[in-house]
Amino acid sequence: MLLIVIDTLRRDRLGCYGYGGGTSPRLDAFAADALLFERCLAPSGWTEPSTASLLTGLYPTRHGCHEYAVLPAELLLVSERLQTVGYRTIGVSGNPNASPLFGFDQGFDAFWFDQNDKAREYPDVSELVAHAEALLAQDDGRPTFLYLHLMNVHGPYLTPDAWRDRFRRPGARNFPFQNEVWKDVMRMGKVERRAEVTPADIADLEARYDAAVAYTDEIVGRFLERRRATAAGRDELVVVTADHGEELFDHGGFGHGFTLHAEIVDVPLLIRPPEGGAGRRFDTPVSLVDLPATLLEHLGALPPEAQGRLGDGMSLWPLIDGREFERDLPLVSHLERGKQGSAFLLQSWPLRLIETGHDYSGRSSVAELFDQATDAMERFDLLARDPERSARLRALLLARRGALEAQGLAAQRVPLSDDQRRQMAALGYGDG
Ligand SMILES: [Zn+2]
Repeated sequence: MLLIVIDTLRRDRLGCYGYGGGTSPRLDAFAADALLFERCLAPSGWTEPSTASLLTGLYPTRHGCHEYAVLPAELLLVSERLQTVGYRTIGVSGNPNASPLFGFDQGFDAFWFDQNDKAREYPDVSELVAHAEALLAQDDGRPTFLYLHLMNVHGPYLTPDAWRDRFRRPGARNFPFQNEVWKDVMRMGKVERRAEVTPADIADLEARYDAAVAYTDEIVGRFLERRRATAAGRDELVVVTADHGEELFDHGGFGHGFTLHAEIVDVPLLIRPPEGGAGRRFDTPVSLVDLPATLLEHLGALPPEAQGRLGDGMSLWPLIDGREFERDLPLVSHLERGKQGSAFLLQSWPLRLIETGHDYSGRSSVAELFDQATDAMERFDLLARDPERSARLRALLLARRGALEAQGLAAQRVPLSDDQRRQMAALGYGDG
C-alpha cells in the first residue's frame, strides 16, 4: 500500500483535473487507471495539521497539531493501525513539519528524514524516491505500507534547469526568489511588499510552479511504473494526494498557511486499487480525513462496529461501490497559526463559508460565502447578497467548530533548536 503526498500540489494544475499546461502526463495516465475524486477537501492549509489529519482521520481542531505541536502519543496513526494487522510500515519525508521532529514516525518500522540537512530547502524528489525504493527492497515477506512525502512543488519550486526552461512564459520577469523577498511577500504582516509584485513576476512564479509539478510528475510516474512491475506492486493499493495547495496571488496572497480559499484546500485525490479503477470519477465531496478509514476498510481491518467510520472520516468504499454514502456532518477545514493566520471553513455543498482572522487588506474577522457549483475558484463573495443562507451557515459553523474544539486534545509544542528554526524559515514557515 502506497500513500504518496505531494506537498503543496493544487489540483487545478493537473491535466486529469482539467489543466491544459501539460504538467502531468504520467499522473494523468495513472488517473486513467485509478479512481479520481473531483472534490477532495484538505482539512487545513499547511503541512503539519493537514498531514496529521490524513494520517489520523481527525480534524486539526481535535488532534491539536497546529503550531509546531507534537502529535499526541495516544493518537493512533494509520501506520500504527496497519502495524497491528501485520504490515511493515515505512515513512520517507522531505518536510520537517511531517517528520519525527513532531511525532510523525509513530507506528513506522523505518522512517527516513534527514535532520542534519541544513544546506538546502529540501531533498529532491528523486532522492526521496530512491530512499523509498531502498527501504521497499528490504522485503521481509510482510505486506508493506509506504508513506512518501515529496517536496519539489513547495516553494521555491526547485527543479533542474531544463524543466524551468520548458515552462518559461513570454514576458515573465525573473522573480527575485531569494528567501528574504519571498518570505516578505508571503508574510501577513508585510502586506505592503505585495504591491511590488507585478504580473510579470506572477507569470514567472506560475511557470516555476508548473515546472515543479511536471518534474515531480516525471519522477513519481516512473517510480509508480517500476513499482507496478514488481509482484508486490501488482497487488497493492496506491493513493496520490496533496496536503494542501498554494496561493499564486489568486486572492492577493502567495504561499500557504494564511487562508482557506479553493487554491489552498482543493487537493487531488487519486486511488488505484490493485485491480485498477478504470478512470472512474466521483463528484461527491470527500476529505483527506477519510483516508485512514478507506485504507483500513480496503484491508478488512476496520471493525464492523465502526460502520465504516474512523475519527472524523468515513470509508470511501461505499461511495466507490455504489452503496449508501451519507455524511451526517458538514466537512470543515481549520487553520490556526497564531499571528500568521487563522481561518475556519464549513462546506454545505455547494456552499462554502470561510471565516478568516486577518485578510490581505488588513481587515480582521472576515466572513465570505462562495457557491462552488458556479464559482469553483471563489471570485464572487455572496455573503451580503444572501444574508439568510449566510446566517444559517454561520450558526452551523459556530456550532461545528465549538463541538470539535470541545473534543480537542492538548498537544505539546516542541521547543525548536536554532538550526530547526532556520530550516523552517527557509521553507517560509515560522515567525523568523
Ligand atoms: Zn505542506
